Amino acid sequence: MANLVIKDLKKEYPTRGEPLEILKGIDLELSSGDNLAIIGPSGSGKSTLLNVLGTLDHPTSGSYTLNDTDPFSLDEDELAAFRNANIGFIFQEHHLLPQLSVLENVLIPTMANGKPAAADVARAEELIQRVGLADRSHHRPAELSGGERERVAVARSLICSPSLVLADEPTGNLDHRNAQQIGELLLEIQDAESMALIVVTHSRDLADMLGRKLEINDGRLSSATV
Ligand code: ADP
Ligand code: MG
Repeated sequence: MANLVIKDLKKEYPTRGEPLEILKGIDLELSSGDNLAIIGPSGSGKSTLLNVLGTLDHPTSGSYTLNDTDPFSLDEDELAAFRNANIGFIFQEHHLLPQLSVLENVLIPTMANGKPAAADVARAEELIQRVGLADRSHHRPAELSGGERERVAVARSLICSPSLVLADEPTGNLDHRNAQQIGELLLEIQDAESMALIVVTHSRDLADMLGRKLEINDGRLSSATV
């Protein structure tokens, strides 16, 4: 059963004149266990698409269901709860909080309703171990390398056991070796947790590691030619 189904999704940004049409009709289906790379040049709408897929931004039109729910029909609080339970995010700029430890950063998404439960702490510790940072759990982001910080972001994206993980240029700031390792780590965890994974990237190397490759061009998705 497909858990993400997108039909004719469009996104415009208002301007003083004609609206700027960035997504011109996106169709996509993804099941748990699928992984997909979306490539495209800078400015082609990759982040716009990921923000809509992540329900951080509303589409202008089109239909979207994730796990049989249309999140855009929910009110703001319900949408936030839905997003937290179903979608994990990994950003290039990782958005770690500098004053918190690795463990606390990974636990942030569990703290929407107050203190994390013991089970959340146990899962956070397990994820931190899985991304290879067990001995860095109490360090702050400033004490880590770029690759290590990205690993923390990977662990944090998984803490609520999402069914869909979205990564926006997750290796954009990393050298080749670290980029390769993050790619492998993402795929290993995606497979173990049988979630759906979408990675937006302009790195061909990273895209080549994923099961399916689509290209965004002039607001539409097509099979990547290279
Ligand atoms: P990419 O991630 O592929 O580099 P983006 O999705 O960030 O591309 O941007 C696609 C286009 O949409 C760009 O031309 C950008 O300037 C424009 N854009 C992005 N966000 C906004 C916004 N909030 N308002 C107006 N235009 C935007
Ligand atoms: Mg972008």
